[in-house]
Amino acid sequence: MTSDIQIAQESHSLPIDEIATKIGLNLADIELYGSNKAKIKWSAINRSMAQDHLGKLILVTSISPTPAGEGKSTMTIGLGDAINNQLHQKTLIALREPSMGPVFGLKGGATGGGRAQVIPMEDINLHFTGDMHALTAAIDTLAALVDNYIYQGNELNLDPERILLKRGIDVNDRSLRNITVGQGSKFNGIEHKSSFAITVANELMAILCLATDIDDLKKRIGLMLVGYTKKDQPVYVKELGFEGAIAALLANALKPNLVQTIEHTPALVHGGPFANIAHGANSVIASNLALHLSDYVLTEAGFGSDLGGQKFMDFVSNNLAKKPDACVVVATVRALKYQAEGTTDHLDDENLTALEVGFKNLERHMNNMRNYGVPVIVLINHFATDTPAELNLLQKLVTEQGIKALVVDYHEQGSKGGIAAAQAVVDLANSNQSNFVSTYKKDDSVKTKIDKIATNIYHASKVEYSEKAENDIRELEKLGKDKLPVIIAKTQYSFTDNQKLLGAPTDFTLHVTGASLKNGAGFIVITTGHVLDMPGLPKHPAALDIDVDNNGKISGLF
Ligand code: ADP
Repeated sequence: MTSDIQIAQESHSLPIDEIATKIGLNLADIELYGSNKAKIKWSAINRSMAQDHLGKLILVTSISPTPAGEGKSTMTIGLGDAINNQLHQKTLIALREPSMGPVFGLKGGATGGGRAQVIPMEDINLHFTGDMHALTAAIDTLAALVDNYIYQGNELNLDPERILLKRGIDVNDRSLRNITVGQGSKFNGIEHKSSFAITVANELMAILCLATDIDDLKKRIGLMLVGYTKKDQPVYVKELGFEGAIAALLANALKPNLVQTIEHTPALVHGGPFANIAHGANSVIASNLALHLSDYVLTEAGFGSDLGGQKFMDFVSNNLAKKPDACVVVATVRALKYQAEGTTDHLDDENLTALEVGFKNLERHMNNMRNYGVPVIVLINHFATDTPAELNLLQKLVTEQGIKALVVDYHEQGSKGGIAAAQAVVDLANSNQSNFVSTYKKDDSVKTKIDKIATNIYHASKVEYSEKAENDIRELEKLGKDKLPVIIAKTQYSFTDNQKLLGAPTDFTLHVTGASLKNGAGFIVITTGHVLDMPGLPKHPAALDIDVDNNGKISGLF
């Protein structure tokens, strides 16, 4: 079988200015990064954002992820290609930038697969236009400036052991989770404990994805909580005066990146927070720009709908020019069988009983999304091993719930693999049925917000708080920050906080283990179970299969 990277490398890209013309921009509106990547200039962003036109917003989410694969990015890209090239509608795909951690670890890249990919896939999955590196540099410059402030006199009496800002690196490196800095002589700084989070989980990534312009970026950086003084007073970045320098490091990264699919559909690939430990959507600037520049915007929320989908609906969409007009829930026969069996051993064999049991997972995801008042459609991502009986059964189970389900094969056939599905999605987005309701109210308390998400989205029967979580919440109340939206960090594999509980568990307790203020991003991160903001590498990391030849041609990325 031809691999994703081979298909991408064999495809032919158009000069990026030709792609720009498809969305009404020209060469003067973009900054070239080689021949097939560009950033959009501020002049073009501002001019486009001033237009009244807003296209339809289509959110793509999915069932709970499994090792069997769901293909959410593949579906988002394939659907975009089908609407653009088969239905001939002005379309823009707005996706996240991949993090390098998973590329070399377990998950691989995030540029789609088969005939539905954004290109150049090696660049996008590795260094791209440097946004991730700029973020990592900004995160670590901020950490160094804070440590230097303490070393150089520490007028505010900041407690080195209560610095909340983490260092960052876009690598899965478990050995950096807990470190001690400043060891050795007094010239090496003040010794204290510190830690690294993966770049995509850092508050600066969230800020980059939420800021509306450079002034807003700077303001948000200034609002970040650095830590506490020895007298228990909070210290924010603006009190130390570092926001200008950090914004300068990120200003270029704030401009969306323009690329294309294998079928030459324009795509903005920009910003990349994970959906399990962060808010999980591409940048607000890119999505809003896409809404102004096209008639159909396809965007994706990370992991299952309980993570990225819920965060998109309850939080991200409040920052967008409009709420979603339609929601696509992606499912596969194989992944649903996995939901029932918990093993990949027999996924190639027809198993209608397992499919029917595993369907409970999809049922909960699609009904949760429908409860937001947004019209929902299910796309079944066809795999070669699916049998007609399995596909029929799955369509029947979904249809019985009053939701349309279509089988698509964008992976194998590109945009021709789902023309009827693209039409159905477009019709749904144009049906004006969207009647949005949030899971919680803006002024609900932290615990009420968590409770509403836990019961309505996860279907937990109870929420329990550790002593640390209780203290953290009291601290938020003291700071007057307890009414901010909540971003729940939870395992992506289960509706519960235990990654082993597959399907659609009920009657379980959600364990809240901590709460931390991300004041610049404007939300509170709630941790549940044992979720970590710095992943580790597996025993056989994807890195072992990645190589490069003497001509610079990369292989083994997927
Ligand atoms: P997600 O966005 O859900 O993480 P991706 O779209 O990135 O998933 O796809 C993950 C992997 O699965 C990719 O390597 C892709 O080529 C593969 N894949 C997706 N759909 C199919 C399919 N229908 N048949 C075979 N492989 C697929």
